[in-house]
Order: sequence, then C-alpha cells, then structure tokens
Amino acid sequence: MLSAPSSRLVLAIGLAVLAALVGLLLNGDMQVALVMLVGAIAAVLVVAIGGDPAPPPRTDATAADREPGFGEVIEAIAEPVLVIAATRVGAANAAARALLGEHILGEDVRLAIRHPAAAERLLDPGEQLSAAPIHLVGLGTREQRWEMRVRTLATGERVVHLIDRTGNYTADRMRVDFVANASHELRTPLASLLGYVETLADGAGEEPEIRARFLKIMHDEARRMDRLISDLISLSRIEAEKYRAPAESVQLAELIQQVCSELSGSPRAADLLTEIEGVPPVRGDRTQLSQLLHNLIGNAMKYGRAGTPVTVSLRSEGDTMVRFAVTDQGEGIPPEHIPRLTERFYRVDSGRSRSLGGTGLGLAIVKHVVERHRGRFDIASTVGVGTTVTVRLPIEPSVIKS
Ligand code: ADP
Repeated sequence: MLSAPSSRLVLAIGLAVLAALVGLLLNGDMQVALVMLVGAIAAVLVVAIGGDPAPPPRTDATAADREPGFGEVIEAIAEPVLVIAATRVGAANAAARALLGEHILGEDVRLAIRHPAAAERLLDPGEQLSAAPIHLVGLGTREQRWEMRVRTLATGERVVHLIDRTGNYTADRMRVDFVANASHELRTPLASLLGYVETLADGAGEEPEIRARFLKIMHDEARRMDRLISDLISLSRIEAEKYRAPAESVQLAELIQQVCSELSGSPRAADLLTEIEGVPPVRGDRTQLSQLLHNLIGNAMKYGRAGTPVTVSLRSEGDTMVRFAVTDQGEGIPPEHIPRLTERFYRVDSGRSRSLGGTGLGLAIVKHVVERHRGRFDIASTVGVGTTVTVRLPIEPSVIKS
C-alpha cells in the first residue's frame, strides 16, 4: 500500500507524462515533448521533496495538554499552583486541591479561590501588566496568610502560585509585640522612679521616715529595671548563639551546688532540698546552664508555699541523657496557661510575678537554653498541689558508652 503523499507523487508524474504525450500529439515535435516531460517531472519532484507545509498552530492547546510533563511539574511543587484558562481552573496540583478542595478542577476561578481580592486580580483584564503579589487572609484556616503571584503564559493561561507566609507574619507580629511589651515593662518602673524623684524634690524628703521609704521603693524599681535589662540582654545573646553548639564539658552536680549556695541568702533557702546522683558531664555552656538553674530554682522558691520543700534532683536517664528536676509545693498552674509560659512576658498573674520581682522572661530564657543544648523541657503542674519542671540534657558524647 502506498501512503497518501507517495500516491499523490505517482499521480503527479503520471499527469506530467500525459501532458508531454498531448504536447507530442499536438505539435509532433519529439524534442519539445521531452523537454516538457523533464520540466514537469522536475517541478513535481521539487514540490514533493519540499514536503507538506507545517500544520497551522493549534489555537485550542493549553499548557497542561501541550507539554506531557507539565502536569508532573506542577504536581512536584509543594506549594499550591493552579493554571487558569480563561476564567476556569484548567489544572491544579495536590497542594492546591488540598487547600481549596478536589472540586476546583474545571470550576470558575471565583468559586475555586473564594477570596474577593484574588477574584478581582484574576478577572482583571489589565492584570497581565501587574506582577505585584497580593496578600490573602482567610484562605484555608483563619490564621493562614498567603501571598498570591500570577504569571501569564504564552497560551494566555495564568499560573497562580500561592506561597504560605503565615510563619513570616507570626514572626513579624511577635517582634512587634515584643518591642511593645519590653518598652511597657521598662516604662513602668521608670515612671515610678520619676514620680518619687519629683515628690522628694517637692520637699517630701524632709521627714526621715518618708524619705527612707521612698528611697527604698526607688531602689527596688531601679533593681527591677536592672533585672529586666539583664534578662533582655541574656535573651538576645542566647538567641544570637542559637545555632552554635555549646562546647564546654559541664558537671551539672557541681553547678547545682554552686547555684544553691548563691541562693543561700534568699528568704526560702532553708526549704531547699537536693537529691543529686553522680551523673556524667553534659556538653554545655556553663553560664547559660547556671542561668537556667537560677531561673528554675528561683521560680520554685518564688511560687512555692513558704515552709514547704523545694526539691532539686539530678539523675541519669538511659545511657544518653541526664534529668534535672525542680519540684515545689505551690499553688500550681492551671493547664490552659502551661503551653504559653515560655512566651516572653507571659505570666499567669502579672501582679504576683511583679511583686515577687519577676521579669516574665525567666522561662523564655530557659526554653532557649534548652533548645541550644538539644535538650527537652517539660512543666507538669497540679493546681493546689505544686509544680515540677524537668529538663533533660544529652550527655557529653565522648563519655557515652558504646
Ligand atoms: P516570672 O519572672 O514572672 O517568674 P517566668 O518566665 O519565670 O517569669 O515564669 C512565667 C510565669 O509562669 C510566672 O509569672 C508564673 O505565673 C508561672 N510560673 C513559673 N514557674 C512557676 C511555678 N514553679 N509555680 C507556679 N507558677 C509558675
């Protein structure tokens, strides 16, 4: 069987031979007929070798069906990607379907992405000119923040890329809140100091008793500012060193004894009990671990009931960890507060924390120190019974028995 182009070629050569024969019959000149025949066959061959003209471009092709790998490519992208043809969703990857629903394929874009700002951008004919991303709130969960980017393809379709910016937004929000909270915390003792300075300047300091009382308050407020500034500096130092693994070999038993003796001047020193076993050293930062111990033992002394024991224990846990715990018999912490206690300036009872000299940063510092040491931190508390705070730290790698 001849293919369609070859049969057309045979037909064309046949017609050329026929034309040459007709020429011969009409004017009886063999030479002219031969020239006509050769010329006609040559013309046929030129056309045949030139091949068929290219088919006209398909105007109905979409990016998704023209490129066989296109679907696979968008499927491989972890973030939601949609392809919009005219106003309908032509393709959507798994992330887009998980966010917006399996039903979105073929759906009108306004129904697929139910967000007024997104619909406005996607249906705007002038959109091709604008490459600026837009920000969407309320897509997916209420807390999620998305950045939507749109690019127009040569086919006229639009590729919609959604980027999850929730993390950035949360970090920004936390930074703003932190600066506002720190300023407020510093301004409170400062306002008090200024007030007493003015009162003394107005003559209230003439009475020795009043003067002594005012000076004591001023001294306490200044000390409070000092503690706050020290904690803020510690926190920023610990954060700056977050990704640098600590390098010292620290004997926790020794460090606990040292911290307990530093606290021996505090009013509740007599309630302090230690249950310390010999444990291998940990790989740590001595200054930061000392601060962790001060903060946790200090909290147990502050929030535990006077006259009840504050127990500090240390022992090995398995072959790779040491476990340090502080238990008090205080009022305890209602469970709903526990997950938030390591947030900066979060307190269960602000008035109580301030009156006990708290800065609201102690547990935030502890959390950062534990994270830098690749350890674990738990708070277990029962209201009316007391609180146990536990820190587990990895043993110095060189002493782990293999
Ligand atoms: P503060 O300087 O206020 O003590 P922390 O960050 O150390 O700040 O602790 C945060 C809050 O957690 C405290 O204000 C207090 O409400 C609560 N808290 C911490 N430790 C205890 C504890 N042992 N018992 C009861 N409440 C505690």
